[in-house]
Amino acid sequence: MMTLRPAFLIFLASLTSASLGVSGAEKKEKIEGYAEWKKGTLLVVDGQRVRAGTTTKFTGKKDIGSVEAIPLGYEVEVEGVRLGDGSLLASRIDAKPNSAALFEADVLEATTAIEAQWLQGGSIYDVGEGGRRREIGKMVTSGPQVERVRGVMTRLLPPYVTDSQVRVHVVDTKDWNAMAMGNGAVWVFTGLLNEMDDDEVAVVLGHELAHYTHEHTRRTMKKAMWGQLVSAAALVAATQIDNRAVRESAMLGGAFAMLAWQNGYGRDLEDQADRVGLRYAYEGGFDVAKGPRVWGRFREKYGQPNAVSTFFFSDHSQASTRMKNLRIEIERNYPEAR
Ligand SMILES: [Zn+2]
Repeated sequence: MMTLRPAFLIFLASLTSASLGVSGAEKKEKIEGYAEWKKGTLLVVDGQRVRAGTTTKFTGKKDIGSVEAIPLGYEVEVEGVRLGDGSLLASRIDAKPNSAALFEADVLEATTAIEAQWLQGGSIYDVGEGGRRREIGKMVTSGPQVERVRGVMTRLLPPYVTDSQVRVHVVDTKDWNAMAMGNGAVWVFTGLLNEMDDDEVAVVLGHELAHYTHEHTRRTMKKAMWGQLVSAAALVAATQIDNRAVRESAMLGGAFAMLAWQNGYGRDLEDQADRVGLRYAYEGGFDVAKGPRVWGRFREKYGQPNAVSTFFFSDHSQASTRMKNLRIEIERNYPEAR
């Protein structure tokens, strides 16, 4: 838990940017995420602690004029400057409900279809050369591994996400890997579970959970797959919900899942998943000081990745960069964990 020093916090909260000597020369930072925790007067967004000052402007939903008024789970954008204690003093906070966005329904439908297919078949697979089905591993549906990952995941969930929204599935294969789908299905490999302790597993699962809570599948799609999705959605709509539509939808889901599996979500979203995932691990009571070491271990096992070695360990930021980023996060947000 964070050590709160109430007097100090009240002091800081009463400061304005002018009295802090924050000038135009200070680098303004912008973060985007969701309202995930409130800690006294602080709001946690994007893994960062955000504080409002007397000059903070609230934009977004009309009736929100304070941090207090922002419900957990709201989409939040913050502009501000970094203070000495690692928190962000906001000049602007934009908060609005996380309403259904473009393609959200498609993501849900497609990923739910592929999840059902994998669970029904008892194994997960991707599509190899020439469209051939290639098995990745068999599902492990009960036993200590399953109990263990579910126990870890429950501790990682931010307060606005319920247990029933996230389903962790264990896959029997020796690779170190994990993956999240846009519908809350998270897949983790036994290879990783066998060789990592709970704190390390929490860092990996926290990363995957952040992909889900921060809607990275939908966000990636919106950017990259507009045309593809429009035609696929039209196809599904046209054929109604018969077997063929379900099949097409499952194929679509599989394609997206695999694309993310192999390529990650792009550097920015991977970095966000690292940041937010570390926050999840911290709030769950895990030792986040082991975060950088997790990257080190991946690097030892797989080398600096140059291509599609694994999903969790994709090449969007090099392992050493990610280690460095996590060290900065720890310095900024969890200095007592060092
Ligand atoms: Zn990732």
